[in-house]
Amino acid sequence: MPVMLEGSCRCGAVSFTVESHTPMPYQLCYCSICRKQQGGGGYAINLGANAATLKIRGKEHIGVYRAEIEDDERPVRETSTGERNFCRECGTALWLYDPTWPELVHPFASAIDSELPQAPERVHLMLKYKAGWVEPEIGENDAAFDLYPEESIADWHKKRGLWVD
Ligand SMILES: [Zn+2]
Repeated sequence: MPVMLEGSCRCGAVSFTVESHTPMPYQLCYCSICRKQQGGGGYAINLGANAATLKIRGKEHIGVYRAEIEDDERPVRETSTGERNFCRECGTALWLYDPTWPELVHPFASAIDSELPQAPERVHLMLKYKAGWVEPEIGENDAAFDLYPEESIADWHKKRGLWVD
């Protein structure tokens, strides 16, 4: 059985549940969007969950942010397909949904209220875009990438026997 994740914003206007086969909070993204919208410590942690099972209370309080991106990788300014959902009342970042991968939704670990497992190792990504003041704490077994890792969140869990069936 997949894990049922329960999440909410800080003020309580929005809460949600979603099922996940991949609940390990192992993936730290240091990109400027994650960092500014959600990552006070210099990064955000994105989980993977099954979009079809997402149930939302307080939908009317949700705002959606689509970032404009212009960087070395995308020299021509474009609008991200990623839809960053947040609470319009208190500003809590809730999840990212990208219609490019409609079966997935990526809740931010910081918005989850249920107990999450502790990741045995972590992946640090988009380090090229981290803020200068951020000193990533890269553990012995951690992996670090300038941009994105090849391995998907699903593959990462499967390869380590951590996929929750
Ligand atoms: Zn709120």
